[in-house]
Order: sequence, then structure tokens, then C-alpha cells
Amino acid sequence: MASTVERFAPSPTGFLHLGHAFSALTAFETARAAKGSFLLRMEDLDTTRCRPEYEAAILDDLAWLGIEWDAPVLRQSERFDAYRAALDDLMARGLVYPCFCTRKQVNAALSAPHHEGSASGPDGPAYPGTCRGLPPDAQRMERQPYALRLDMGKAIASLGGAGIVRKLSFKELGKGPNGERKKVLLDPTHLIGACGDVVLGRKETPASYHLSVVLDDAAQQVTHVTRGQDLFAATPIHRLLQALFGRPTPHYRHHRLIVDESGKRLAKRDDARSLQTLRAEGAGVEDIRRLVGLSR
Ligand code: GLU
Repeated sequence: MASTVERFAPSPTGFLHLGHAFSALTAFETARAAKGSFLLRMEDLDTTRCRPEYEAAILDDLAWLGIEWDAPVLRQSERFDAYRAALDDLMARGLVYPCFCTRKQVNAALSAPHHEGSASGPDGPAYPGTCRGLPPDAQRMERQPYALRLDMGKAIASLGGAGIVRKLSFKELGKGPNGERKKVLLDPTHLIGACGDVVLGRKETPASYHLSVVLDDAAQQVTHVTRGQDLFAATPIHRLLQALFGRPTPHYRHHRLIVDESGKRLAKRDDARSLQTLRAEGAGVEDIRRLVGLSR
């Protein structure tokens, strides 16, 4: 049996907060307990928001927490060729299409009477499909910005249809927000109606989170994905992409979210809770562990 490979995959768009510390410590300690390995990946796709000083602070915070990674850091910014190749493959299979809609146009289409109340997936309401089925237009793609969207209906059909996709599953070792555990089956109706034609790449950036996370977890041979419960809803999309690319499915452990005093999930903008701030105020590693409920 392959030994356990865990990973932590922060985006260097801000400082790590307590939620990240909980995730990283959980993944690292689970890997060590299983005598497996622990890997670090910088999810630095968004070159406009990522900054070297955030990456430096992340590396410093992790080392300070006592976390060690067993291979050089993988950076998504160095994997654009792999993402491009995967998108070309899906394009050749007719499963992605360019979408020229601006955010404003998507919102306007979604608020049209026949779309009102449309179901939402992890990226918000499902895309109304405005650009699906447009004839190929290489010149327009030269001229205009675009997103590459997965044609969810076709993707499901290409895997053999809803009946086959309904049998696809992933193992949940933690818990989803509605108590989902153990074997989680895909729901094609939800994938089409709520997730919809998710973005897999853009003209300037050849990958979205969904595409890169699937390809990178496979490239790093990750067997166990430990991450916050907020990403549980994205996992069926990842499972579907694994099937489309013939990549293995890791086990997932979605963990509780660390919240502030008012019960609100911590976010990067809550600088007060950043590890850098807590450290500057004199917090030690034990304090951090206590704050996230890892020790008493
Ligand atoms: N980069 C993501 C984040 O910082 C984590 C992605 C994942 O663990 O799959 O929220």
C-alpha cells in the first residue's frame, strides 16, 4: 500500500492565520503519525495578489510551528505548462469552451426572471450558459479576455452519463458541513444545476483552483487531503475532474473551521489573528495550539 502523503497548500496572498495553523498542524501530524510524508505547495496562481513577502512569512511561520516538509516546495507558478496541456486535452475532447462574459454580464443574466433562484455551488450561482455552444472564434479569443469553462453536461456524458457518475465517490475521513462522512457519492443533478460550468482556466492564467488542485495533488502523489470544511463543496468537482483526467482520488479530511469570538470564519483580511501578529505579541507555539484546540 502506498504510504501516506499529506500536504498543505496555502496561497501567498496574505499572512497565515489560526485556521491555516490548524490545517497545517493537522496534516503534518497526521503524516508523521502514519510515518508518511508531508509536502508543501504554494498556490501562487494569482500573480496579481501573491507577494514574495507573504510566501516568506508563510515559510517562516510553518518552520516556527515546527513543521517540516519532505520535498522542495512546489509552486503553481512553475506548472503552467502542465495546466495548459490538461486544458488543451479537455478542449480537444470538446469539454471546455471559452466564455467571454464579464462578471457584470453573468450577474445580469442570473438576475433575469427565468434564472432567479438558481442553485449555488462552491463558486456561487451556476453559470447560466450564455457562451456555451458559441461557434469557435479564434479571432475573438485573440482580441478579448475569456475564461475556459467546463461543459458540465458534456463532461458527465463523456464519463458514461449520470448513472455512472452517480457511482463515483470519495472517502471523507473528516466531516462535511452537513455531517457527510465516509463514502460521499457524486450527485450529477447538483453538479449540473448548482456547480454548473465551472471555470478551469483563463486567457492569462491557464488554471483555476479546481484544475490546479486536482493536477497538483496527483503530481505530488498526495494520498490524503486535509483542508477546511469550506472546501468540502468543491470536492465533487475535483472528483469529477480526477475521473476526466484518469487521476487517482485521494482521501479527504475536511476539518472544522476556526472562528473568531463572534463565530465568524477567519479570513486573510483579519490581520489581527495572523500568526505574524500573534508571534509579535509574544505568543508561543503552545499558545497557538491551545487557541486552535489542539492542546489544552
Ligand atoms: N490554497 C487554498 C487555500 O489557501 C487551499 C486549497 C486546498 O487545500 O485544496 O485556501
